[in-house]
Amino acid sequence: MVPSADPEPRRDPRAGAPSSLALPAAPWIDSHAHLAGEEFDADRDAAIARVREAGGQGVVCIGESLAAAARARAVAAAHPGFVWWTAGVHPHDAAGYDPARDLDALRECMAAGAVAVGECGLDYHYDHSPRAQQRRAFADQLALAQETGRPVVVHTREAEDDTGAMVREAGSAGITGILHCFTGSHALAEVGLAAGWYVSFSGIVTFRKWTDEALLRLVPDDSLLVESDSPYLAPVPFRGKRNEPAWCAHTLARLAAARGTDPALLGARIVENTRHCFRLR
Ligand SMILES: [Zn+2]
Ligand SMILES: [Zn+2]
Repeated sequence: MVPSADPEPRRDPRAGAPSSLALPAAPWIDSHAHLAGEEFDADRDAAIARVREAGGQGVVCIGESLAAAARARAVAAAHPGFVWWTAGVHPHDAAGYDPARDLDALRECMAAGAVAVGECGLDYHYDHSPRAQQRRAFADQLALAQETGRPVVVHTREAEDDTGAMVREAGSAGITGILHCFTGSHALAEVGLAAGWYVSFSGIVTFRKWTDEALLRLVPDDSLLVESDSPYLAPVPFRGKRNEPAWCAHTLARLAAARGTDPALLGARIVENTRHCFRLR
């Protein structure tokens, strides 16, 4: 992360920072948090308690690798009905993806209660793995989503053409999913929406450099999700801090303002969408 230049006062979230700064009460579910990461080892249960205080009705804990998925599963097991887990292979790690080994392990995760495949996808910005291997791992996980009837959590960065083509094909095969932490073009959002997918926005939309108001209005109410992507991408006014799920309240407020709607009403839709998308129980 680039250090923040925001002028807001710094507060340490581990030292009892407020989970919301007098925001209107509104419900939401964090559709994407890396809550099983070591960044939360010291205060994970407290961070989950702050979700409730901030109006949150749950957190989807992302397993971006098989090791992370095992940890995410344990977090979910400790918070039934409030934390759910996923399992996938991130595009950054696609070079180490071994279908013979990993696909069966992911299949077992779905059988064990993971609510989605992912996160997976294509990242041509960092190119941490060769692009052909990223596409291979992504294609296999889309096929697993189809086989297991799960949605797929998709990470995409600077890979619009390939992502668009693969999402379009997945949609026609009946696969549903989420374009997570979406910062792409209107054209790619529209490909996702046409495929019946959801678009999830993170704290990036609260940054001063965000100028695409139209994108925040383009996604229909019934296709919109919100996420923290914590521990990354803390929203204003916490930018530069370790992010945490409770701060989704700020991203929701930003989305509601951009859309000219009431956060409580929009949040209720987002809760409904998230439950429907991941079939949460
Ligand atoms: Zn991601
Ligand atoms: Zn993520």
